[in-house]
Amino acid sequence: MKTKVKYLILGAGPSGLSFAHTLLANGEDSFLVLEREAEAGGLCRSADVDGAPLDIGGGHFLDIKKKDVLDLVFRHMPREEWNLHDRVSKITIRGTEVDHPLEANLWQLPVEAQIDFLESIAQAGCVRGQPMPESFRDWITWKLGDRIAEEYMLPYNKKIWSMDLNRLGTYWLYKLPDVSFRETLQSCLERRATGKLPAHGQFFYPKKFGYGEVWRRMGVALGDRFVPNCPVTQIDIETRTVNGQFQGENIVSTIPWTLWPNMAKLPSEVIAEIGKLVNIPIDVDYDPTLQKTPAHWVYDPDEALTHHRRLVRSNFCPGSRGYWTETNASRSGPVKHFRHHNEFAYPVNTLGKPEAVEAIGRWALGKNIHPLGRWGTWEHMNSDVATSLGIEAARKILAQR
Ligand SMILES: Cc1cc2nc3c(=O)[nH]c(=O)nc-3n(C[C@H](O)[C@H](O)[C@H](O)COP(=O)(O)OP(=O)(O)OC[C@H]3O[C@@H](n4cnc5c(N)ncnc54)[C@H](O)[C@@H]3O)c2cc1C
Repeated sequence: MKTKVKYLILGAGPSGLSFAHTLLANGEDSFLVLEREAEAGGLCRSADVDGAPLDIGGGHFLDIKKKDVLDLVFRHMPREEWNLHDRVSKITIRGTEVDHPLEANLWQLPVEAQIDFLESIAQAGCVRGQPMPESFRDWITWKLGDRIAEEYMLPYNKKIWSMDLNRLGTYWLYKLPDVSFRETLQSCLERRATGKLPAHGQFFYPKKFGYGEVWRRMGVALGDRFVPNCPVTQIDIETRTVNGQFQGENIVSTIPWTLWPNMAKLPSEVIAEIGKLVNIPIDVDYDPTLQKTPAHWVYDPDEALTHHRRLVRSNFCPGSRGYWTETNASRSGPVKHFRHHNEFAYPVNTLGKPEAVEAIGRWALGKNIHPLGRWGTWEHMNSDVATSLGIEAARKILAQR
């Protein structure tokens, strides 16, 4: 016999969990959250490695802007269980670590290097009034000039995306730090950072646990409405029946669209749009070696190193040692100590992606299937944004009843 509910939520990452908890908080308990893994949390999960927590989806730091998100998070893991850190993130450039973002912190480099990089920005297309290009690769040189592009942004982005950078669009670049030439010049003269600083100026990290603990607790708090170890393998679109076992008046999908063609009979035009979506896998590897840096994390553009980012857990996880790295899985070497593979880590902002996501979403909503979160919208977002989307989507759907 099928289990019938009003809302069948696919995936127990932050977006699915926050959707579910918002339903509960509003007196709606006719739902189930189906999750492939044994534990809730999605990309935000943590494991215990070498006697301390390690965030298996990459480096995860909590920086919440919205009160309702903060309330939900602190309800499950009270404020006293978190440390608030002043962010220290660095970039390794010419053998030196400088603070991120580079454009605001060139002053930390030797004078000769400052001159090289200032000259690079002064000659950049954006400073000379040239129109903004449409591909990401061209945008990098247009924004920062040849020298910074070649020594930092191009190698770093080649490593993280491991694909032709011309396939990426520029519509998402408002998310990157934007420091003007004038601000860069001023920071070199005044020997201090100027301009708008990037996200995570401060961040919360649990005192005793990894970042995954709060999401794990949210899963547990759902009781038997949370169904772990339940990979969605088959979906009947017309009856909204999942695995022949669960039926929902509505499906809320936080799982990647690219899995759908193997699970459901979809119209060919929807399959074609899904075929345009690209994701990249990230391996997270642990290394016990001591890192002599005050940074919480370090960006490493050097192409001789396989990883692109180091997370120095001994600087934010009390009582821990070592660090972990994030590497595009296509660049990974053999496992040395511990590795977690994330097949779905980053949705890629390819040219044409927004239109494809729009078309898929339009079709889905017509079938009472509601796309949500990182994979429903195929959008880079931090967990606080995924949580906010979950809260808002549940409120909206309840208001429409
Ligand atoms: C390298 C990296 C670093 C990041 N750093 C930060 C950070 O510092 N701070 C921050 O706030 N955010 C960070 N994020 C972003 C954060 O991880 C995501 O925004 C958040 O996890 C998105 O939540 P979600 O629920 O939408 O998706 P996910 O967390 O991906 O959850 C989707 C869920 O669906 C499940 N699922 C998939 N397929 C199936 C299936 N067939 N059947 C059943 N279940 C399925 C998955 O197991 C998973 O639990 C980072 C992400 C990455 C990759």
